[in-house]
This record gives sequence, structure tokens and C-alpha cells, in this order.
Amino acid sequence: MYPYDGETSDTLMKHADMAMYRAKEQGKNQYQFFNGEMDQTVLQKTMIETDLYEAIEQKQFVLFYQPQFDVQTKKIIGMEALIRWMHPKLGMISPGVFIPIAEETGQIIAIGEWVIEEACRQIKRRNEQTGLSLRMSVNISPKQFLKENFVEHIDSVLRETSLPAHQLDLEITEGVAVFNEQYTIHKLQQLKRLGVCISIDDFGTGYSSLSYLRKFPIDRLKIAKPFIDGMTEEKEDVAVVKAIIVLAQNLKLRVIAEGVETLSQFHILETLQCDEIQGYVFGKPLDADAFENTYLQNQLPNE
Ligand code: C2E
Ligand code: MG
Ligand code: MG
Repeated sequence: MYPYDGETSDTLMKHADMAMYRAKEQGKNQYQFFNGEMDQTVLQKTMIETDLYEAIEQKQFVLFYQPQFDVQTKKIIGMEALIRWMHPKLGMISPGVFIPIAEETGQIIAIGEWVIEEACRQIKRRNEQTGLSLRMSVNISPKQFLKENFVEHIDSVLRETSLPAHQLDLEITEGVAVFNEQYTIHKLQQLKRLGVCISIDDFGTGYSSLSYLRKFPIDRLKIAKPFIDGMTEEKEDVAVVKAIIVLAQNLKLRVIAEGVETLSQFHILETLQCDEIQGYVFGKPLDADAFENTYLQNQLPNE
């Protein structure tokens, strides 16, 4: 709107563009008016993008680890690697802020490769030291998964670290199915041949059809946190979680609930025969040392 949103045609067009992007981000088929906060967001984005290049060069990233437990035995069975950015001026930045930007700019490729290498080194060392055979879950973003040399990179990291492939679990999202189903199936088959595990992260929140479940060679569904959140209040959410668990059982997939915050949620999941859980109720993400001190001391090795 002239003159409130800009005095020149250039500025007006630029701001109209930002409003359009916001409308698209929020699910399309709607309109948005420009506001100053959108300009802020763009500024912040540009700053993060610039700083990310340095972060990659200077290795400013660290991995935190969150434990995953078997519901029946209550024992730790693995962990998820969650990246953090130690920004020299801003302190710790969470992945929710910079991963979407890195995905947009393509920087996710370099970051993602580092995550896989670091996570594999860590779990190999931990399993050797403790005699346990824990599994390491790593988040893979769609752009990373779709990159043509993705499988080769995983293969070379497994060889370099001599990590048994089944101890690596790749978390992908339903989104990769939307891009190109045939290509995704082909990539997943190659990964399965290497022997790695595949999980669908945030299951139930994507827009894809369920038909892919029959076609994708996957091992595990991760029930998204919003369903778990609602379970103690909403009968409908219990119904959804129950349906996902039954679906997984019938498809011979393991199922893990994420974002479990309370004991009452845990008890419902136990009754519904969910296989595994991850959440603040049993453990928050910790850095490598704290993780080892908290979860790996006094653990008996698996048979
Ligand atoms: P995600 O893979 O679904 O990971 C779960 C997120 O939920 C993590 O947030 C975790 O700290 C948080 N969480 C776990 N349990 C609870 C709980 O009981 N309550 C609450 N409120 N939160 C819980 P985080 O670490 O901030 O990561 C956010 C997202 O960033 C991840 O969601 C994942 O999509 C992405 N991400 C993290 N690390 C990486 C990475 O190395 N590569 C890629 N591509 N994405 C990553
Ligand atoms: Mg995940
Ligand atoms: Mg998730």
C-alpha cells in the first residue's frame, strides 16, 4: 500500500514479494499484507546465511544427544543426534532457526555431511567403550537425501569408521516422498542394501498419502509430538496414536513416540504397546560428556 509500505515502486514490489512468500509459507491460497516484521525476518535470514558460511569453515557446530528407550525393558537402546550452533556472538542457536535457512541455501549439504561423520565416530567410540550396541539416529533433510552422492557418502563414512551399518538410523520426513516417489524408493533400496535403518520422522504431520508406506523399505515410524501432546486431554489424539501403532505393527515396523513429556503420556503409550519412547520425561538432549555421564555409566552391556 503506497505510501505506507514503500515510497518507490522498487520498495513496494520488494515488500509485496515478501508478503507473497509469507502467504505461500502459511499454506498458500490466501493473502497477506506486508508488515515491518517481515523485513526483520529477511534481515535476520541474510545475517544467518552469511554467518553460516563461517560456521561451516570454523566448525562452530556441536551435536547433542537425546536418549531413546525401550518401553518394555526401560533400557536405553539408542540416541538421536541433534545439532546446535555455537555462534561466537549470539551463543547457542537451535536447529529450528538455522536448518530451514541452510536447507534453502544448500548449506545443509556440508552441514549434514559433518553431522553424519561426527555422529558415526561418536557412536562407534561409545559402543566400543561401553560394550553396548546402541543405535544412533541422524536427521536427514530432504535436499541432503536427494543429493546424488548421498548413498556413497554414507557408505564411505561407514567404511571409514567401521561402524556396523545397523547401528546407524537415518530419520527422513514424509516430504521426500512428495518430490519423486520412484527416485526415493530407489535411494532407500540402496541404503537398505548397505544395512542402515530408516525411520520416518514426525510421522503424521506431512501431507503425503499413506500409500508410500507399502512401497518404502523403512524400519520405523516416529509419532510426531503434537499427537503425543494431546493424548491426555483429547480422546481423538489417543485414537490417532493407537491407529499409528496398530498400523506399524501390521506393517512390521517399529514405532517410537517422540516428545513424551509426562508419565501419564508414557503410561498411555505403554498400554497401547508402543515399542520405544523419546522425550523430556526420560531425558533431554545433552552434550557428549553429559550424555555419557548420565546414561552410559552403570549400563550393563547387551547380550
Ligand atoms: P526432530 O528431529 O523432530 O527432533 C525432535 C526435537 O524435539 C528436538 O528439537 C528435541 O530437542 C525436541 N524434543 C525432544 N523431546 C522433547 C520433549 O519431550 N518436549 C519438547 N518440547 N521437545 C522435545 P531440536 O533439537 O531443537 O531440533 C529441532 C529439529 O531440527 C529436529 O526435529 C530436526 O528436524 C532438526 N534437526 C536437528 N538436528 C538436525 C541435523 O543434524 N540435521 C538436520 N537436517 N536437521 C536437524
Ligand atoms: Mg528427528
Ligand atoms: Mg521429529
